[in-house]
Amino acid sequence: HHDVVIVGAGHAGVNLAAYLSKGGYQGSVALLSNETILPYKRPPLSKGFLLDAEPLESLPLRTAEYWAASPVDLQLGVEVLEVRPDEQTVVTASGRELTYGRLVWAAGGRARSLPLPGATLPGVHQVRTLDDVLALKQELPRASRAVFVGGGYIGLETAAAFRGLGLDVTVIEAAGRVLERVTSAEISEYFHRVHREAGVDIRLGATVKEFTERDGRVASVVLGDGEVPADVVVVGIGLVPNIDILAAAGASCSNGIEVDELCRTSLPAVSAIGDCTSQLNPYAPDRRMRLESVQNANEQAKVVASDLLGRPAASGEVPKFWSDQYHIKLKTAGLIAGHDQMVVRGDPGSGVFSVLYLSAGRLVAIDSVNNPVDFAKGSALIKQRAQIAPEVLADSAQPLQETGL
Ligand code: FAD
Repeated sequence: HHDVVIVGAGHAGVNLAAYLSKGGYQGSVALLSNETILPYKRPPLSKGFLLDAEPLESLPLRTAEYWAASPVDLQLGVEVLEVRPDEQTVVTASGRELTYGRLVWAAGGRARSLPLPGATLPGVHQVRTLDDVLALKQELPRASRAVFVGGGYIGLETAAAFRGLGLDVTVIEAAGRVLERVTSAEISEYFHRVHREAGVDIRLGATVKEFTERDGRVASVVLGDGEVPADVVVVGIGLVPNIDILAAAGASCSNGIEVDELCRTSLPAVSAIGDCTSQLNPYAPDRRMRLESVQNANEQAKVVASDLLGRPAASGEVPKFWSDQYHIKLKTAGLIAGHDQMVVRGDPGSGVFSVLYLSAGRLVAIDSVNNPVDFAKGSALIKQRAQIAPEVLADSAQPLQETGL
């Protein structure tokens, strides 16, 4: 028996375990991971680690010494297959039963796969786990033509890294613009232009029909209107949240496991945090959202730690995300869902600018490109739900500050 059983040792599960230890939690905590290596950071997998700028040793979220000294019982290679909420028990793949006082589901998600002929051929990859990226890196010495299916952040970051390594890169995107699901047309156009100028061939509105094979490996990607030769393919078409086991146990789920503001699920004594959850967000009223970001995983971990420690939850942080591509550091704060006005601040052509989003005159989100000052000020103003005249926002000679209307 453990007072707390955490399933999944990604950013959410590890941060929760760390906050509990730091907060002096007196109960016993087990942290179960179905991966067999020390819990690690995912963002570098499509950025510095791929480019060899960040070594393998920098990836663990906490060192082996940290875990050795921690009161948390980290168990690697343990997969939970079933949750029995009536008995407050989880069942592992090896048939072990562990009882819990509180279960925290922090199982993240898995890369969405393409149900198409040839999608499982050697040479077709995804980018979610360290193993995925180690396998991808092994291909690089003999690959010269890479095709990316999906123009989301992870696909574009990986594409930028591959260009940096000198490969020919084609990006196949089914939608009318890259990053369509996650950002505004202004930011999409900026990234499209940067990738095009870097020599990436971006095909929009393109559908993949199948992958062809030669000598037991992928040889090309067949589109609705043509074929692109490929030595290596990366499929980056989004995440499937790991909700099935908790859904089977009876938890209310939609696009994710539905949690309240304390990250409690509809099951008694079961919380959920991180990429697998769907929550109403104070920065996008009346909308349940599933946020895939390190910051969300971390904030939700904080909320559950406070809940377990019997302290008031410090919530209400502005959602944040970042992406690194080539020389570009994009930082975003707030949520663009529901904005009714958009203001560009600075010149996108200069490579330093921001896009600000307003709803009923209040600042709700900012995307900053290579502009950490505007990002910091913008984030604070979003938290204040500041009213700012659009002409002030647009004038990069004036500091970002509240003006009223
Ligand atoms: P995960 O990190 O997915 O961890 C869940 C863990 O649970 C996994 O180890 C999984 O194997 C394990 N698990 C699942 N099911 C079970 C089970 N049944 N039993 C036991 N263990 C189980 N976010 C940003 O904010 N900025 C970025 O720049 C950024 N870049 C990214 C780049 C890449 C390549 C990827 C993949 C993600 C990136 N993200 C980024 C997203 C960020 O990594 C995720 O939001 C974050 O990892 C979510 O943490 P999590 O703990 O919810 O899930």
